[in-house]
Amino acid sequence: MVPILMYHQIGEPGPKGTPYRSLTVHPSSFRRQMRWLHRLGYRGLSMRDIMPYVRGERRGRVVGITFDDGYRNVHQNALPVLRELGFTATNYFVVRQLGGGNVWDYEGGVAHSDLMSLEEMRDWAAQGMEVGSHTLNHARLTDLSAEQARAEITGSRLELESLIEAPVTAFCYPYGAENAQARELVRLAGYTNATTTQPGLAHAGDDPFGLPRVMVARSTHILRFLQKCMTQLEEKKRKK
Ligand SMILES: [Zn+2]
Repeated sequence: MVPILMYHQIGEPGPKGTPYRSLTVHPSSFRRQMRWLHRLGYRGLSMRDIMPYVRGERRGRVVGITFDDGYRNVHQNALPVLRELGFTATNYFVVRQLGGGNVWDYEGGVAHSDLMSLEEMRDWAAQGMEVGSHTLNHARLTDLSAEQARAEITGSRLELESLIEAPVTAFCYPYGAENAQARELVRLAGYTNATTTQPGLAHAGDDPFGLPRVMVARSTHILRFLQKCMTQLEEKKRKK
């Protein structure tokens, strides 16, 4: 079993009381988390690199690292740390918002945050990181017709592939909203894996189009973080 970490933003948190403030992890916390993993002999890997471990074809001390939405502050604050340690990671981009912002959040009172531009996304890929899809418009797939959902899922893959001139195989369901139809459309679109917001470790028997993740929040203490990553401990606890 493999933990796949779920991050959103790496930056200074917004003012107290801001919705989803907890989803912004401070750069110094992120650096501490990654360095501790490295010190303990773990490697942080993108979805592309970790799938053989998820499927049980390879074994090792590995942790999946994913970021939702493609925030600019991940390029600024996380990329240098990942590079320093030789880790890879996946960021799930919202194609129509490259160079834009988290417009889908505004309604809920969440503060604007810049998303990576096309050039920054290309740089993310050029530095060995993975570009995954988070649809064209951050769509809630379970609210769409099959035709609309297919346009979001397949269209985003084709557009991202032409923008980075490389295959795109990782998908992430916006809001974690998915069902059997959405999973099937993701598979048919040619992706090889998809992550949800369901909490848990990924197991060899899991549907690769419904992989659970381990959320890391601003308040996640370093000891709790390491406990979440050290799968043997988690599994032992589960068996008790
Ligand atoms: Zn999202």
